[in-house]
Amino acid sequence: MVFISRENAADILTARQAPAAFCESGDTVIFETRDCYDDNDITEENPLGTKGEKLENPSTGPLFVEGAWPGDILKAEIRKIELRDYGIMRTSTTGGAFCHLYKERTARRFFFSHHPETGHLGFWFDQKLWLNADPMIGVIGTAPAKEGVPAITPGSHGGNMDCRRIRQGSVLYLPVSVPGALLSVGDLHALMGDGETGICGLETAGEVTVQVTVIKEAEKRKNPEEFRIFQAMRGALPLLAEGGQLMTIQSAETLDQAAFLAANRMRELAAAASGMDLVNSGMAMSLLGDLAVCQIVNPLKTVRCQFPLEVLARYGFCLD
Ligand code: CA
Ligand code: CA
Repeated sequence: MVFISRENAADILTARQAPAAFCESGDTVIFETRDCYDDNDITEENPLGTKGEKLENPSTGPLFVEGAWPGDILKAEIRKIELRDYGIMRTSTTGGAFCHLYKERTARRFFFSHHPETGHLGFWFDQKLWLNADPMIGVIGTAPAKEGVPAITPGSHGGNMDCRRIRQGSVLYLPVSVPGALLSVGDLHALMGDGETGICGLETAGEVTVQVTVIKEAEKRKNPEEFRIFQAMRGALPLLAEGGQLMTIQSAETLDQAAFLAANRMRELAAAASGMDLVNSGMAMSLLGDLAVCQIVNPLKTVRCQFPLEVLARYGFCLD
């Protein structure tokens, strides 16, 4: 199996970065990630960090997928997320919903264990509160076509979406904008609420196992009906399938703008997938589509729109 070590980390997703590894479509690859503070830079004793030559929100990669060509879609199936044995979080005096309340930065470290009764991986938040871990991927994206995008920023390429539904068992669809796609992964969270309101999740490092498959535009062109759906999917990227729902994940300068984009991209895809007209697809979205905030703390804000896959299946749609 292809393994990309944590030494292959960068704080930008760019076509200029040399591939760390190569694989074929259909292969399974392990990304060994650092935490968003570049591992151990922030500690309880030193919550400000060393401010040395650390990477900001490093992601591991990039992975060159043979045969991936601009215009294709990269399907990334998250097979497994394994965490190291602790996570760290901090307060912020400059970002997030509570920064006006703090005069200084404080960091806390939490060690993971298995609950003595349930066996579930988690941690003691304090003496009364046990929390089960729900591991998720903060940063996962392909290289954009033109300028590189910092690993702290989300966008149409994916990146720092901080969507907690990107978890083990989910399937993410990303654009291929450069040859090989150049997939990077980082910024694991052991737990995070929608919004990431306090500036961070329970930041940690670990190993992510991903199966990557290229959905070829050239193949889809052979069948007009399949190509129509493919184009609708491509127009709605990044797309996520998890827990029986299909989700558009959109980022913009404001939450309002991100919500508008997420809802519209999902309506367009649902209409194409179901054959519903403009009126019915808009009404179906209003009845069945759920907006949710992914994060409010990154340079662009991220909102997802969730729609039941089972409804689209009634119209004959099935995901690649
Ligand atoms: Ca993040
Ligand atoms: Ca993070």
